[in-house]
Amino acid sequence: MKYLSTRGAPERKRFCEILLEGLAPDGGLYLPESYPKVDDATLTRWRRLSYADLAFEILSLYIDDIPADDLRAICRKTYTEDVFGTQAIVPLKKLEEGFYLEALSNGPTLAFKDMAMQLLGNLFEYELGRRGEELNILGATSGDTGSAAEYAMRGKRGVRVFMTSPHGRMSPFQQAQMFSLQDTNIHNLAVKGVFDDCQDIVKAVSNDLEFKRKYKIGTVNSINWARLVAQVVYYFAGYFQATKSNAERVSFTVPSGNFGNVCAGHVARMMGLPVERLVVATNENDVLDEFFRTGVYRVRGSADTHETSSPSMDISKASNFERFVFDLLGRDGARVLALFGEQLGKNGQFDLSRDPAFAQARATYGFASGKSVHADRLATIRDTFQRFGVMIDTHTADGVKVAREQRQPGVPMIVLETALPIKFAATIVEALGREPERPAKFVGIENLPKRVAVVEADVQAVKDYIAAHCR
Ligand SMILES: *Cc1c(COP(=O)(O)O)cnc(C)c1O
Repeated sequence: MKYLSTRGAPERKRFCEILLEGLAPDGGLYLPESYPKVDDATLTRWRRLSYADLAFEILSLYIDDIPADDLRAICRKTYTEDVFGTQAIVPLKKLEEGFYLEALSNGPTLAFKDMAMQLLGNLFEYELGRRGEELNILGATSGDTGSAAEYAMRGKRGVRVFMTSPHGRMSPFQQAQMFSLQDTNIHNLAVKGVFDDCQDIVKAVSNDLEFKRKYKIGTVNSINWARLVAQVVYYFAGYFQATKSNAERVSFTVPSGNFGNVCAGHVARMMGLPVERLVVATNENDVLDEFFRTGVYRVRGSADTHETSSPSMDISKASNFERFVFDLLGRDGARVLALFGEQLGKNGQFDLSRDPAFAQARATYGFASGKSVHADRLATIRDTFQRFGVMIDTHTADGVKVAREQRQPGVPMIVLETALPIKFAATIVEALGREPERPAKFVGIENLPKRVAVVEADVQAVKDYIAAHCR
């Protein structure tokens, strides 16, 4: 399997070459040259597999530069009951006939990003060990992504994490989750500033190519193909739990921000998983819902990006969306370059409404969309708790709200549960008048000793810290 860029550059790469990279050199995103097709007999055989072995089967269709025994061992080490809480790893919860939640948030940081990040940690350690190299991951976080990366990389040989976050601005629970890690390869840098300052610093450090090379700086952002392909697995696992035969079709609703999660659903569907609809649920930041309704993709400025009670979906542009548009436009790299590399920069938007391809988003690729706002979240959290006794988080609530609007008779609907309520306790209290349950392993974490360095919002201060801790 070879990988190409969505912007048409002629180079082809193998999996382990793109594993540690971000964007392709032409600014595009990596995708496989083609999607392997899975036939009926294979689906039947996969139904009986454990999650780890299913992951191995799917990943081995995309990875041919890691020996099979090693890849299987990596999958078995990653997807364990010990790390994800159940043997099923992603158990399906039935709310009512034909309406399910797929639990993706029982990993170490209680959000679905663990599903991919835990695998990435093991893949990084393996590949860096094989090359005899080191990597220093530099990132900026306002909560979720940073903690998932730290929990994935803790104790891994050859990897250090330098994670900047805005000093005093994360919730006490999020701070406790990150800062209580005592692993010496994990570095928390609380920057005296806001999230944008953290992001600017990370950008400035990464743009200093000499520093970047000298200190082997890398990232783990959501455009990484390995993260995306890891997420393909739970679409298959959800399908197998909701159906008895491969003749049945199901739909998925996906609380979406950067389009990484639902893009994995698109890949699963392209492989032949019998998926009827892929429903994109957004919050007030409705860039994606607007596109699927109108054909206009219009990125937002920071003044137009709302801070909501489902904050992990607060995006101004959807960084993985380019992958889907590449497929939608018949894999025309020159057009993708014109749209994302030129028009978007110039006009802040592009319009496919009159392009025949746009109709295919629905008809051929099964996409539908909807939007949910704060009042919807509160009502949905309340309704789901009152009728089913199930407490859901704010992001999952956006999914449930939109899924109800998009359900079709006779087609089971699976809503992806992307986080646990404890992470967003304030809104749960607003909706239900009570605190969410806290999993036993998180009781009292606010009282654990914290390991964090407070630094000025200054590029040089962060560079100095990295230089001093890279030995
Ligand atoms: C990251 C995240 C999302 C959005 O996922 P994308 O892959 O960016 O679309 C939704 N919910 C939660 C809880 C998240 O952490």
